[in-house]
Amino acid sequence: VGHVALQAETEGGRTELLRGTNSFSARIARIAKSLNDTCKDGKPLEFDFSDVDERHCPSCGKLLPEVGSFCRACMEKRKILARIWHYVKPYWRRLVLIMTCTISVALLSLVAPYLIKILTDDVLLADGGARLLLLLVLVLVAVRSGSLLIGIIGGRLLAWFNAQVVRDVRLDFFQAVQGLCLRRYDKTQTGALVSRLTHDTQHLSLLFRIFGQNIVPGILQLVGICGMLFYLNWQLALIVLVPAPLVMVLTKKFYRIVRRYYSRVGQRQARMSARAIDSISGIRVVKAFAQEPSEMLTFQGQNERLCQATGLAGTMDATYFPIIGFLISFGSFLVWYFGGLRVIRDSGEMTVGSLLAYLAYLGMFYHPLQMFTRMGGMINRAIASAQRLFEITDADQEVYNAPDAKPVKSVAGAIRFEDVHFGYVIDKPVLKGMTMDVRPGEMIGLVGRSGVGKTTITNLLCRFYDIDDGSILLDGTDLRDLKLRDLRRHIGIVPQESYLFNATIAENIAYANPEATQEDVFRAAAAANAHGFIMRLPDGYDTRTGERGAALSGGERQRIAIARAILCDPRILILDEATSSVDTETEELIQEALRNLVKNRTTFAIAHRLSTLKRADRLLVIEDGKVAEFGTHEELMEKKGTFYNLVQLQSRLSAIKAVDG
Ligand code: ADP
Ligand code: MG
Repeated sequence: VGHVALQAETEGGRTELLRGTNSFSARIARIAKSLNDTCKDGKPLEFDFSDVDERHCPSCGKLLPEVGSFCRACMEKRKILARIWHYVKPYWRRLVLIMTCTISVALLSLVAPYLIKILTDDVLLADGGARLLLLLVLVLVAVRSGSLLIGIIGGRLLAWFNAQVVRDVRLDFFQAVQGLCLRRYDKTQTGALVSRLTHDTQHLSLLFRIFGQNIVPGILQLVGICGMLFYLNWQLALIVLVPAPLVMVLTKKFYRIVRRYYSRVGQRQARMSARAIDSISGIRVVKAFAQEPSEMLTFQGQNERLCQATGLAGTMDATYFPIIGFLISFGSFLVWYFGGLRVIRDSGEMTVGSLLAYLAYLGMFYHPLQMFTRMGGMINRAIASAQRLFEITDADQEVYNAPDAKPVKSVAGAIRFEDVHFGYVIDKPVLKGMTMDVRPGEMIGLVGRSGVGKTTITNLLCRFYDIDDGSILLDGTDLRDLKLRDLRRHIGIVPQESYLFNATIAENIAYANPEATQEDVFRAAAAANAHGFIMRLPDGYDTRTGERGAALSGGERQRIAIARAILCDPRILILDEATSSVDTETEELIQEALRNLVKNRTTFAIAHRLSTLKRADRLLVIEDGKVAEFGTHEELMEKKGTFYNLVQLQSRLSAIKAVDG
């Protein structure tokens, strides 16, 4: 416990070469593999640890938030923006239009203050007459209406652009999720994947909105305003721009402080909802063990902590940002004073109109400035979201269409394992050199204690995982040379935990074969001995099975799964503890159903009760990742080996059960 050791087996016995904590186990496994390869095949000795340590960022060494995820500090923003561009490109014409609109709006906003200057200096103070006044007001109206119109058009275009780009991202993401290797699923929480699909795509769309509506027009406005300020009075411009860097630095600083408080709010919120979801999902256990008060207490604590965090963040927000507002108004104080002085001096250096225009421009100036400092965080978040999305779209996909893969037309069903080595994780091998030969149409019972790798063998047959070494052959062809979908189409599987979709029973049965007629469905259900109980349900075949099939008992679910497998009429059938959660009587019924089903099909049956495997042609006993015994029931019983002992143990156990009642 807590240790790994590397031992060498030599003629003189075992010697320990190396010992380390568990964190080195993957590396030591690599060393062991490399040493073995060198001894066996004379390969050069080389150690490759590049993908071993997934807990830490490969470039900066920081601990990652989850195994196999990415380091936020090291992510390459430019690369991600390039990926985003890939989605934007199909709509580039629209993008140009949107940009034109926002740029026009930004430029038009510069016109109004200048008109105010003319209005004040040439009309109000110089008595330019009512006609000029009317003209100027009309121009003002025209400018404002024009910018309104263009703004609306741009906004509408942006809304569609946004929706469509995000739709494309979601589609790619879902497709990638469907094709994701199961190895990857072992490392990722399904909840996290769903949240990527919903939340992260939302954040991504925020990015476009920020760019389209804030950043590009903001930059233009800043440049334009600066130009106008200098044009109106360059000395004053120099004076008022003095506080600008200060405002930017302070906003950034304040924003960082406030954000820290808000991120604590986010963490506590996530923790609270995770706990609440857990508690609500497990409500039956909570009630059964009368733990409502303790659940309440836990929730109360978390709720209180969330309350503290929210309150604190809110107070920070309420304190810091008004201070920044004050600092911004400082610029206008300067303008009032120094600009006012120039107006009073009446040297023609500055007019009242210029002063007013100046103040108006200044009011517009700090807004984009402040926004930029805040935007940084948002963009980072959006980019992090994009990265999380692209991480999945770029993750290892199953190879559906390998160029040299052969299509599978008909399958006889001969299966051969040749020295198969496999482990889900590198340092914990499950199969260590399995070799077996199965004839077409044979029924094989897989026997071994729990965790020995029975389900793993069926996983490998379906090529849910690729083996590390050796080969698996179907009718003499390596599985890796066959088209993946074809291969799976010929395999029917009744898994250990069958999953029912939240749909009607008929839809669930016909899942693998949507073209099946109603009669096919009935026949399959009858063959699985499920017809009887289905007809007793209130809506018969149209009964909805509820989330994960919660409305049905374990045995009922299993029989529906069997019907599903029957309907797709596979050449190879896998029954993984198909009768584990049913009573003896139902088991008889299912056995009866299976008897018809397994005829002429290569079948792998795993059963907890060894007596149910009597009908198997041969039994395969697995021990320590290898075939321990392989033969008929009688042969194995006569041999008095592992299987014999297991049978003895079980019959003794069932005798005890029988006495207990
Ligand atoms: P069983 O013979 O009971 O069906 P399995 O084939 O399910 O056993 O599992 C064999 C071993 O592999 C067990 O030690 C189990 O913990 C491990 N294992 C199974 N599935 C995974 C997985 N997805 N990721 C990592 N380890 C796994
Ligand atoms: Mg199993």
